[in-house]
Amino acid sequence: MAERIRILIVDDEVRFLQTLAQRLSLRDFDVTPFSDGRDAVEAARQQTFDIALLDLKMPGMAGEQVLAALKAEHPEMEIVILTGHGSIDSAVDATRSGAYRYLQKPCETDTLMNVLRDAYQHRVQRKLEVSEERMNSLLGSAVGESALSILRRLKEIAGEK
Ligand SMILES: [Mg+2]
Repeated sequence: MAERIRILIVDDEVRFLQTLAQRLSLRDFDVTPFSDGRDAVEAARQQTFDIALLDLKMPGMAGEQVLAALKAEHPEMEIVILTGHGSIDSAVDATRSGAYRYLQKPCETDTLMNVLRDAYQHRVQRKLEVSEERMNSLLGSAVGESALSILRRLKEIAGEK
């Protein structure tokens, strides 16, 4: 079996964080949850993450600061914002700061899975330096496949360990 996709989750709402971590672990992600942004930034210096899923409103280090720190230190990491305090302004700011996508809570698991699949595909495309067209042909006909099975194939294509 291919290695699992490594995801860093940062949210100060501990119960939400645990539920989300559990949901993604069940879908075969290698999940590292943190309720404090500073700890997450530190952890990312010690190990590689494919994707980070970030809350914005947090005490201590705010999500915007975590986003800036992670992007500065790990430009290849894809970052998805998942916030309950969304606004068009914060979405624009986050995207300008390098976030791949911006989602609002509550978010259906299927929607989240599709965005994580797209984010990971984007990472693999950049890593292999191929076009979206080439990526799609490498993936073959993905019609009817679940986000999870596409993620597994992307992991194999990337040869990421
Ligand atoms: Mg929060």
